[in-house]
Amino acid sequence: MRRHRNVKIVATLGPVSSSYEMIKALHEAGADVFRLNMSHGTHDEIAERHRLIRQIEAELSSPIAILADLQGPKLRVGSFANGEEELENGAAFRMDLDTAEGDKTRVCLPHPEIFAALRPDATLLVNDGKIRLRVKSCGTDFAECEVINGGTISNRKGVNVPDVILPVAALSEKDRADLEFACELGIDWLALSFVQRPEDLVEARELAKGRAAILSKIEKPSAVERFDDILNASDGIMVARGDLGVELPVQNVPPIQKRLVRKCRAAAKPVIVATQMLESMIESPMPTRAEVSDVATAIYEGSDAVMLSAESAAGSFPIEAVTTMNNVAVEVESDPTYRTIMETSRTAQRTSVADGIVSAAREIAETTDIKAICCYTQSGTTALLTARERPRVPIIAMTSETNTARRLALTWGTNCVMSGSKDRFKEAVVSAVRAALSEGYATQNDQIVITAGVPFNIPGTTNILRVAPCNERMIYAMDPE
Ligand code: ATP
Ligand code: MG
Ligand code: MG
Repeated sequence: MRRHRNVKIVATLGPVSSSYEMIKALHEAGADVFRLNMSHGTHDEIAERHRLIRQIEAELSSPIAILADLQGPKLRVGSFANGEEELENGAAFRMDLDTAEGDKTRVCLPHPEIFAALRPDATLLVNDGKIRLRVKSCGTDFAECEVINGGTISNRKGVNVPDVILPVAALSEKDRADLEFACELGIDWLALSFVQRPEDLVEARELAKGRAAILSKIEKPSAVERFDDILNASDGIMVARGDLGVELPVQNVPPIQKRLVRKCRAAAKPVIVATQMLESMIESPMPTRAEVSDVATAIYEGSDAVMLSAESAAGSFPIEAVTTMNNVAVEVESDPTYRTIMETSRTAQRTSVADGIVSAAREIAETTDIKAICCYTQSGTTALLTARERPRVPIIAMTSETNTARRLALTWGTNCVMSGSKDRFKEAVVSAVRAALSEGYATQNDQIVITAGVPFNIPGTTNILRVAPCNERMIYAMDPE
């Protein structure tokens, strides 16, 4: 499906967005990647969402990425008999190990290690810090708290204990089971929560066995400190601002976001800016001006993707939220200031022939009237390098690998077209031209740039750049084999 923007949109699926009609409508409105949050919903529900996405992908012949987000060592409350409760300032509220459903006075917090580490006066934060509780007294299986900042608390909301260091492993038993389940389904990206060190990725990578690319969620101060090594060990990054803004002073989040986005672009790895982007649209069809500005800022910074969480999973206006992001993206990207920022923030760090080729392709496209850059890519690397250039013209990634096409759905500006494997360069040129014409990127009178690797079918050999007319007869007349 052709998009008229480069930044990608990730939409989380949940109770309000699990039907065939809704997932299809979200994709048509602009969602390029669907996030399945393993913290919520059963394996059966997740398998069904996965099946529907793949069905829609096949019907529209448009590669869609599926991102499975592992819960990680995230602390969460249990469930409530009423689904949710309103906590008033000053009220008493108890957390304990009793697995009975919660009410206005208590809820289960199924983490004995928290109670072991808690002290009176410690702060418990619930739901990305919106609810604040102060511990008045505690024991090995309970904490009696006072509500400092009240609000709605509901099933499985996250809990942070910023004053207390908890001994936690990167992957829980549940995460290992979820990882295997998700990889077997055939998801494309695995997101790891609460990564703290590059070593945290080792086990996940071993278990995934190449079945999924690995994305690290940056939401701990330690992950920010060791970001370069974590980026190096990851295939992509999520700036997970919800927990990040609880674990660190909230004003630290914007500069961290800017720095992380810049580093990801330099490393040619996709980066998602996530959490609360259009939060008010959970309940309102119109975003606040500040939210629109936040989405725009992430795009001006050069993010690959912007994300919706509860807005599309559990809100009343999921399609409006995707449409809003799409509209903001189209507007920002047509602003000359955006182009200037993309040009001036390009980091020239050329270490390979492929780097040189993609940069030349971008320069040629800029200095002449070229309509698209078509890059042949097997592993996806050449497409990632081309996207790092943030060229002015569309990128068409030609690949024979379904997995590559799907993973690239997360990458800035990359439009994937499936193309069978090619034996001859001329055949590849003709195929690229056909793709540019049929997808509406060029007309018969235009030219496109094509990059490829010869010999074909050996990954990592991009070594050819060809400027071709979009006219098959001319190509057959002029091109060497
Ligand atoms: P994370 O820390 O991984 O972002 P989260 O709890 O914040 O976890 P999100 O996916 O960001 O979850 O979604 C925000 C909220 O939307 C959730 O807290 C939950 O209330 C609701 N939600 C999302 N997905 C589902 C789902 N599949 N089933 C039920 N509720 C969901
Ligand atoms: Mg989180
Ligand atoms: Mg969240």
